[in-house]
Amino acid sequence: MSSGYDLHSHSTASDGALSPAELVRRAASHGVRHLALTDHDTVSGIAAARRAAGELNLELIPGVEISVTWEKKCFHVIGLGVDPACEVLNRGLAELQRLRDQRAERMAADLEKHGIDGSLEAVRDMAGDGMITRTHFARFLVARHYAPSVADAFERYLVRGKPGYVATRWAALEQALEWIREAGGIAVLAHPLRYRITASWLRRFLTAFRSAGGRGIEVVSGNSTVEQVATCADYARRYRLLGSVGSDFHDPAFPWIELGRLAPLPPGVEPVWQAL
Ligand code: AMP
Ligand code: MN
Ligand code: MN
Ligand code: MN
Repeated sequence: MSSGYDLHSHSTASDGALSPAELVRRAASHGVRHLALTDHDTVSGIAAARRAAGELNLELIPGVEISVTWEKKCFHVIGLGVDPACEVLNRGLAELQRLRDQRAERMAADLEKHGIDGSLEAVRDMAGDGMITRTHFARFLVARHYAPSVADAFERYLVRGKPGYVATRWAALEQALEWIREAGGIAVLAHPLRYRITASWLRRFLTAFRSAGGRGIEVVSGNSTVEQVATCADYARRYRLLGSVGSDFHDPAFPWIELGRLAPLPPGVEPVWQAL
């Protein structure tokens, strides 16, 4: 029996393939009753998602997935239940948008040095008013036959050490948590096992996250194994964090992750929605 909650998803406001309204309709048709839209570093899709949710039996929880740099490593912190009109939050996100625009220019210049032209215009076109992400570059590289799939495009061009990779210093952890708190939201660590870090680094991060005001951790992700859920549930109990469930859905073309297809939270983990 599904909880009806999916607290992590993307739309065309960042690197999702569906518009906010299309995303909400797909969520409803997959049994989601409470959906958080959590685009990368933007809340610009929330208004349209809310309008679409209003026509269906679905609660839209306004959210955001903030890019954070802590000790030179990138983490994703989700704000759930944030007020999209909050000025402090919007000022912070505007700064991240500036960093994203700058990074896109540098990525395009690097790719050009490797003989790949035209990426900046293409990703700007694709992103429209939305945030430019590495996923846009990946789609461009696939469309131009530089890579057979988005995953390959990342491995060949877009990860550390590859031609199109540009290191970026995102928001500081304390900053991101302050923006979320000011916007009345709850900070949740996204996909704890997807960072390329050791368990001891993750434990250090969780200690810092907890003491800076972080309150939740994603225990169930879109493609979590039973073992991964158990590991994350353990972190939730040990660090006294609320448990979240979120598919991190981006694109119907990636059928291994679907909206609302999530295992239940294990016993002893308090659901984050009790605090929303
Ligand atoms: P960015 O925040 O612009 O650096 O892009 C990060 C996004 O790229 C993530 O949210 C994922 O959606 C996507 N991504 C990162 N690594 C991979 C990968 N190896 N394969 C496919 N998508 C990826
Ligand atoms: Mn993404
Ligand atoms: Mn993420
Ligand atoms: Mn995400």
